[in-house]
Amino acid sequence: MARCDEGYLCSVCGAPVETLAESELYLRYVAGWIDRELLHTAPDRHLQCNPALAQFIVDPRFEPVVCEGPFAKEELDPEFVREREELLTRAWQRLLELQGTSTVIDEYPLGTNRDVSC
Ligand SMILES: [Zn+2]
Repeated sequence: MARCDEGYLCSVCGAPVETLAESELYLRYVAGWIDRELLHTAPDRHLQCNPALAQFIVDPRFEPVVCEGPFAKEELDPEFVREREELLTRAWQRLLELQGTSTVIDEYPLGTNRDVSC
């Protein structure tokens, strides 16, 4: 399977995850939740295919996702929801910025001000 050449297939719906801004894996990476090494081994999903995560992205450019059941925002602690919305919305906006740029992958995550090369 030529996974590297073809990008990732969504582990939920099976369709390719074609852009950064629809990738759950990269959103987690930019948010600082996963290590760079995992980017090439962890399964990816469309954000739209993971409502429990995507419901926290609040941006007019992002098609809103409604999550139902025990992980719905309405069921969660408001403070937790606020923090998560802030983080994941920022992370998603960063993915939009990164699309089409030549930013190196190490500089994707939020809060890593590695402008100075070591
Ligand atoms: Zn999908």
